[in-house]
Amino acid sequence: VATRFLARMGGNPHNAFLDIDSEVTLAQARASDAKLADGTAGPLEGVPVAHKDVFVTRDFATTAGSKILSGYRSPFDATVVQRLRTAGMVTLGKLNCDEFAMGSANENSAYGPVQNPWDTARVPGGSSGGSAAAVAAGLAPAATGTDTGGSIRQPASFCGITGIKPTYGRASRYGMIAYASSLDQAGPMARSAEDCALLLRAMCGADIDRDSTSLDMPTEDFSATLNSSIEGLRIGIPKEFFGEGLATDVRAAVDGALREYEKLGAKLVPISLPRTELSIPVYYIIAPAEASSNLSRFDGVKFGHRAKDYTDLVDMYKKTRAEGFGNEVKRRIMTGAYVLSHGYYDAYYLQAQKIRRMIADDFQNAFKECDVIAGPVAPSVAWKFGENANDPVADYLADIFTLPASLAGLPGMSVPAGFGAGNMPVGLQLIGNYFKEAQLLNAAHHLQ
Ligand code: GLN
Repeated sequence: VATRFLARMGGNPHNAFLDIDSEVTLAQARASDAKLADGTAGPLEGVPVAHKDVFVTRDFATTAGSKILSGYRSPFDATVVQRLRTAGMVTLGKLNCDEFAMGSANENSAYGPVQNPWDTARVPGGSSGGSAAAVAAGLAPAATGTDTGGSIRQPASFCGITGIKPTYGRASRYGMIAYASSLDQAGPMARSAEDCALLLRAMCGADIDRDSTSLDMPTEDFSATLNSSIEGLRIGIPKEFFGEGLATDVRAAVDGALREYEKLGAKLVPISLPRTELSIPVYYIIAPAEASSNLSRFDGVKFGHRAKDYTDLVDMYKKTRAEGFGNEVKRRIMTGAYVLSHGYYDAYYLQAQKIRRMIADDFQNAFKECDVIAGPVAPSVAWKFGENANDPVADYLADIFTLPASLAGLPGMSVPAGFGAGNMPVGLQLIGNYFKEAQLLNAAHHLQ
């Protein structure tokens, strides 16, 4: 199986991969063959998977899509990578992404954009654009992604695949290069909810010795309830997700999926998430603040790139970071340092934290009336390359429907709902209460 996928990956279609090493992959595949033969196989033995380049790996380079980590090799595997290996999965390589997972279109990768396989003139979404494109194009049967503010759900929607971001803390962040630690969460991206359930089970689990925010609870058999009836399921429809900004083609596809649910016996319940719009300024204060702190480790001393000609230590830091980071990363470091600085902290960062709490409370109010929440993943289908190139705020605004669940730490997923303008895929977003991944996957499975 691995040989067949390696052949498809040849020539790196859509620029989806950043590192491929067929010898490593084939050695893992041979070890899997041996385990399958002698009866010691893991639950996913021999099934290929590719990892977003934000997960560190011993056997492949890890760059997080940044020049500053060009050629970097980690001495260890991220917990998620290691857990999938333990389950028997064979690593196909590392997938392109926005630099340090900052972006919504994969246009911020230092190694070039990824094309959307449905229309190569369009973006695949981001930041897990390589993961979504690889699965959509059949270059990998499954991939890992990370979601800080939508980076699993939005590219899954743009590329017509299925992806789930679990409850914050379900999957270990150990070895996942940090962007905004209070939001970062790993999850699977695959062709169906059924596949996602298998992958999620293998990926998740307590890792408290190495990630203090990892939940001290066992992983779950998310497949067990996939086929349970959804009759009587109360699906909350937040009115704020269906306002003016939503493109009519996306709305039509989402409405079609909701009608399907009604036919299956689910009930649509109108709800309100009144602070939806505030999630954009709140997220774009908190995430850069945490990023400015997390990215201070890239100083030219410990990892990756170091500038050549410098006069002293400070000059070395400055030149290394000026050369190594791309524009979007620099923009966020500056924003983050600003909102955390003396005199501005109370006005921006503290205020954002308070509203974040209210956004989480709004969800708990909504969950009194419904079991899951449904709506669009993004306001439009995948846009064309360059459309927002000189307007980073346009990309930020397009995150409006994914940011609320991220800020609240809730599980969310994208499941294909149909097609919109230009025959581009549209995803339906399902948001569940804490630890209700099985319920989301069950609801998603009924659409497939
Ligand atoms: N688009 C958002 C950002 O640029 C989310 C990215 C993500 O989830 N990693 O920050």
